[in-house]
Order: sequence, then structure tokens, then C-alpha cells
Amino acid sequence: MREILVLGGGVGGTLVANLVGRKLKAEIAAGRARVRVVDETGDHVYQPGFMYIAMGGEPASSLVRPERSLLDARIELVVGRIERIDPAAKVVRLADGQELAWDELVVATGARILPEAIPHFATEAHHFYSAEGAARLRQALDAFTGGRIVVGIAGMPYKCPPAPLEVTFLIEAELRERGLRDGTEIHYCSPIGRAFTIESVSEMATPILAEKGVELHTFFNVEAIDPERKVVQSLEGEELPYDLLILVPPHKGARVVIESGLAPAAGWLPTDPQTLNVRGRDDIWAIGDATDLPLSKAGSTAHFEAPVVAERIAARVLGREPAAKEGVYTGKVMCFFEIGDGKGTLLRFDYDHPPQPPKPNRVWHLGKIVFNKTYWHTVPRGRI
Ligand SMILES: Cc1cc2nc3c(=O)[nH]c(=O)nc-3n(C[C@H](O)[C@H](O)[C@H](O)COP(=O)(O)OP(=O)(O)OC[C@H]3O[C@@H](n4cnc5c(N)ncnc54)[C@H](O)[C@@H]3O)c2cc1C
Repeated sequence: MREILVLGGGVGGTLVANLVGRKLKAEIAAGRARVRVVDETGDHVYQPGFMYIAMGGEPASSLVRPERSLLDARIELVVGRIERIDPAAKVVRLADGQELAWDELVVATGARILPEAIPHFATEAHHFYSAEGAARLRQALDAFTGGRIVVGIAGMPYKCPPAPLEVTFLIEAELRERGLRDGTEIHYCSPIGRAFTIESVSEMATPILAEKGVELHTFFNVEAIDPERKVVQSLEGEELPYDLLILVPPHKGARVVIESGLAPAAGWLPTDPQTLNVRGRDDIWAIGDATDLPLSKAGSTAHFEAPVVAERIAARVLGREPAAKEGVYTGKVMCFFEIGDGKGTLLRFDYDHPPQPPKPNRVWHLGKIVFNKTYWHTVPRGRI
């Protein structure tokens, strides 16, 4: 019996398990292989929807479904918190004492947000990186009647790099509609020397920021908040006063991968960019937000990584070489990008081809809305 263990039932873990299950259908049916997903909550959360709790009236309940409902019948689900991954013994230990052995291991434990790493974040700042945070931001926006809004980033890398720009554009459009734009200054703080990490996207976004009257501050890495003076301070020594402060919280990888010695303190697993193996281990893969790859931490990244890992696992179990094309990750990512006023664009790229975002239009905005609605029937089940 070959044991395939997938840690994490997010988009990456769910999809890879379903794909491996299909490739090894005959082996599973004959009792020669087993695929198990381990997840702490047993619930699958569609995180891109958090932005729409803050900006579109999305109820948090529509963003959660039982993980079991997304997994093919041939995949087993174990609900429990993973406390230790022992790479020498090839065993995973859960908080309830269970020990699960593996022959092939996929680590898809995602990223954690750490707002508490910035003193006064909880009382002074807002975010949309959890359902609760997004609902609180919605309340703050409802109560907002004008003043200075500052949007910033309190640590790199973070999930969905375009998200803070998207929220800035959506808030700007909302305030115009509510007749509050003239009485509001909007400031966008980028941690690097331009509006966005990828140059071509920055070239697209910078004139839009200017057109919308949003002031861009570059090299502004959020370091501290002074609640008395209501200013946010950067590592670079700049200060910006705010009435409403929206910050992307610091992120780290899962605690268990750090404590198990698989990743350094930041928690990102050292990952081969083509095979997605954790470096030095041909029986362990990392996928999705858990990796240290220099790519967007996005569901889309996990979506395009999963078939590569599934192919490589199937090849090992079946004793063949991985297919030349399917078994190599090319860095493919594809994300919709909201611009506001019912418009959007598309970021499609890979390791060798930077994105060339099309001129914002209604089609890409609608594309994002349709994708959000159809997600439950498509990506995690391996249907697109
Ligand atoms: C506001 C926001 C907007 C976004 N917008 C987009 C977008 O437009 N497009 C896009 O592609 N991506 C977007 N993303 C990013 C996307 O949601 C993530 O990149 C994606 O969910 C990563 O998938 P994953 O499988 O790696 O991790 P996750 O989906 O986070 O899943 C990790 C799983 O591991 C489990 N886990 C972790 N530790 C343990 C443990 N110790 N024991 C047991 N289980 C554990 C968790 O319970 C969780 O189920 C957005 C994210 C946010 C927050």
C-alpha cells in the first residue's frame, strides 16, 4: 500500500488530492494506494471572497463549504491539527495523538496572517485578510464620512499581491458614488520603489492611481503605528497621518513546518521551481502559499502547480517517468484584477513571460465575479 498524504485542505491540497486520486484510480481500487488529506478544520474557505465581504456585501457563510463535499469519494479526509512532520521517520503526528505514515507527502498548509506582530494593529488598523477583519472594515467604511485613508503593506510576501491595489480602487469608486470623494484623501503605500512588484503591472496601475487621485508613496514598509498621533510609520522613516488605516498584515508559513525544521523562521518551504519538491527530498512536495517560490501567493498559483505534483506522484507510484510537459511547473499564474467602476484586467504570466495586462474593461471584472461564483464546482474538483 503506497500512502499519499496531503497536508492542508485549501485549494492546493484539495486539488492535488483529487488529481492524484484520478491518476491512481486503479491502484486505489485494488488497495495498492491510499490518498489522505489532513486538515485542521475540515472546512474549505474561499479566501478571495474576503475582499467582497468588505467591498461587495458578500456574506461570510457563502465562502465556506465542508472539505468532504469537494473531495472525490476515493480520497479520505482526516480532520485534525498537524503538530509535527517527521521527515526522518516519514510520519506526521496530529494533536489528538494519531500518527500518519507517508510514502509521498504534499505540504499545502498555506500562509498565516500575524496582525499581532504590529503593536496597535488590532485597535487602529483594518484588514480584509480574514472574514472577521473584512466585516470590521465594512463597518468602518460604512461609518466613514471623509478624511484621510491610508492603505499599506506590513510585510512581504503576502497573499494575492494585487489585493491592496484592488481594494484601493474599489474604495475610491465607492466614495465617489457616496459623494464623499471630495472630502477624502487616499494614500497608497508600496514597500518597493514602484506601485507593484512586477514592472508591467506597475506601469498599468500607476497612471490609474494618478487618474483616481490616489497619492502613491514608494519605499514605505509599514513598521509601527502611533495611536496617539494617529500616524503610521515606515521602516524608511516616513510618517503618514490617517483617519482610516487599512494594512495588509504580516504573513508567515504554517507554524508546523517551522517547528518541524522543514522551513526557516519565515515559514516558506525551500521548493524546487520546476519539480516543486522540497529541496533535498524527492518524496516531499510543497504547493500553494507554503512555498518560497518568487511568485504570487495565489490560489491560481496552487491551481497550476497541482497537476505537476499529481503527475510526479503518480509517476513514482506507477514506476514510470513523469510526462515531460505535465511534470514540470513553468511558473504559470493567472489572476483577475479589479480596477473599480465595474472594470477589471487580467494578469497572466509564467517564469519566462511577464504579464501584459489588457486595457481594463468590463469583461475581466465580470470574469472575476463569474469565477468566484463557479469556484466550488471547478478549481478544487479539478474541472478547469
Ligand atoms: C483577501 C484575499 C484575496 C485573495 N484574492 C485572490 C485572487 O483573486 N486570486 C487568487 O488566485 N488568489 C487570491 N487569494 C489567495 C488565495 O486565497 C491563496 O493563495 C490560496 O488560498 C492558497 O491556497 P493553499 O492551498 O496554499 O492554502 P490555503 O487555502 O490557505 O489552505 C491551507 C490549509 O491548510 C490547513 N492547515 C494549516 N496548518 C495546518 C495544521 N497545522 N494542521 C492541519 N491543517 C492545517 C488550513 O486549515 C487550510 O485549510 C486571496 C487571498 C486573500 C486573503
